[in-house]
Amino acid sequence: MTTTRTSRPAGDAGPTLADLDEDQLLERIFPALPGGPAVLVGPGDDTALLRARSGAVLATTDAMVRGRDWLDEWSTGEDVGRKLVAQNAADIAAMGGRTTALLVTLVADPATSVAWVSDMTTGLAAAAAEAGIAVVGGDLSSAPTGTLALSVTALGELDGEPVLRSGAQVGDQVAVHGTLGWSAAGLLLLQRDSATRAPDLVRYHRAPLPAYEEGPRAAASGATAMLDISDGLVRDAGRIAKASDVRIALDTGLLADDIGRLVPAVGADGARDCVLTGGEEHSLLACFPRAGVPSGWRAVGVVQDGSGVTVDGTVTVGGGWDHFARRATP
Ligand SMILES: [Mg+2]
Repeated sequence: MTTTRTSRPAGDAGPTLADLDEDQLLERIFPALPGGPAVLVGPGDDTALLRARSGAVLATTDAMVRGRDWLDEWSTGEDVGRKLVAQNAADIAAMGGRTTALLVTLVADPATSVAWVSDMTTGLAAAAAEAGIAVVGGDLSSAPTGTLALSVTALGELDGEPVLRSGAQVGDQVAVHGTLGWSAAGLLLLQRDSATRAPDLVRYHRAPLPAYEEGPRAAASGATAMLDISDGLVRDAGRIAKASDVRIALDTGLLADDIGRLVPAVGADGARDCVLTGGEEHSLLACFPRAGVPSGWRAVGVVQDGSGVTVDGTVTVGGGWDHFARRATP
């Protein structure tokens, strides 16, 4: 994926949301939104109407707030739109599901530039279309000076049973699909003003691109527990351990390639920290019966009797991102 960097910062020159009425803004947004086979009635009526193949619907939501979840200096509107899709579609994939539709809410200071909203819409629509996801509606609301926030609700469907966090069994292999630590390493480079050292890592931080189809594939392969890595490998592994009442033993020997990949960009200690505790990666972490790890997934540890998470045999607590503490926890 290449992210074109055409956005202007919010509040830049050009028309602002205050220059348009709601209908005029929606006329600019609606044509960009992808539809899909599940959509019986799309945007424009009071609600959308979706066809549900099975008798159950997956539902999840995720928000991004400027100044907390992104900075205009580092991320374009297009990046933010793409990241919103990734966060939500990865959560649906982590249940073993396929995302069918998104609903999007924009809460914005009227001084926000129309160009930023157009760029965000472009990124969101492109990422959704690439993943075969329809965007079927949402809401607009004005907000106090400086506020810019987005929330996406994702709906999805399952081919079979959902994969929960609570199904891991002693003896299972713990495996990952996708990158580890790229988003955190990209953020570190932005913070150090050295984004040019590894543009691919920075691009991944701005707009992660998880392999959503691996969620249903893992489910079909017999995954016993799964989630997407949003708050760091150790912390998210701990969520499976707690829900399943097991211990997850991670082995950095199995993570050597992941760590080695990041060393040139952020150094040896930084690389280890990014791989073990880096958040916003949205790669999938799952447990599989022994010898059942699907191709393309790589084992990173095993499920044992006990509780919590160990790294090379040492009990490891926390790590990763804590939203309300607004800090990375040790
Ligand atoms: Mg998740």
